[in-house]
Amino acid sequence: MFNAMSAPKAENLTWHIGEVDREARTAAHGHRGAVLWFTGLSGSGKSTIGHRVERMLIERGAFAYVLDGDNVRHGLNSDLGFAAQDRIENIRRIGEVARLFADAGGLVLSAFISPYRKDRDRVRSLLPDGEFIEVFVDTPLEICEARDPKGLYKKARAGEISNFTGLDAPYEAPERPEVHLETVSLSVDEAAARVIHYLDEHNILGAS
Ligand code: ADP
Repeated sequence: MFNAMSAPKAENLTWHIGEVDREARTAAHGHRGAVLWFTGLSGSGKSTIGHRVERMLIERGAFAYVLDGDNVRHGLNSDLGFAAQDRIENIRRIGEVARLFADAGGLVLSAFISPYRKDRDRVRSLLPDGEFIEVFVDTPLEICEARDPKGLYKKARAGEISNFTGLDAPYEAPERPEVHLETVSLSVDEAAARVIHYLDEHNILGAS
């Protein structure tokens, strides 16, 4: 079990300032770095929409990358389970990785349920203003359960999975997400286009 700490354990550390600043990275990539933090119930469409946005960004020549839940649990977070402290540490590490990507000038798309407002806000606080974009993939539980792309709701209803978000664990919906996608009335392409539109409108794409 991990204990998330904000202060480093080691001493004698200095933050090294490099020769390339954010402006130079923005000029090199043709866009600003940012974290697009997708949040929503399991099966709401975070991964599907996130990957569509990634493709659209890559087609525009952007430096974009999806951080996906299960993939991260295979490597970086393979030592973490689903106990409360481990879930917090999972999101903390993902947030730090996302921050590094954004600092490098990338557009990071993260697709994690991230059910707790406090954990999402902690990641927001790691980033400069305007560089954390919360994307609420708002799909009612009944629809997620009907889609059940990974068969997880079925297993949870059968008692094979406990602490399942939306069933016997809470989901705290964002109060003021930067982008709000109601997938009942939006196709995957329409939802992805909304995200791209936000980036265009806020001068994240095309900035240099
Ligand atoms: P999550 O990453 O949130 O767990 P997934 O993206 O893995 O969700 O699964 C969402 C499922 O819902 C996919 O099978 C997708 O094809 C389907 N789906 C149907 N309509 C939509 C829509 N409008 N937006 C997003 N996903 C949709």
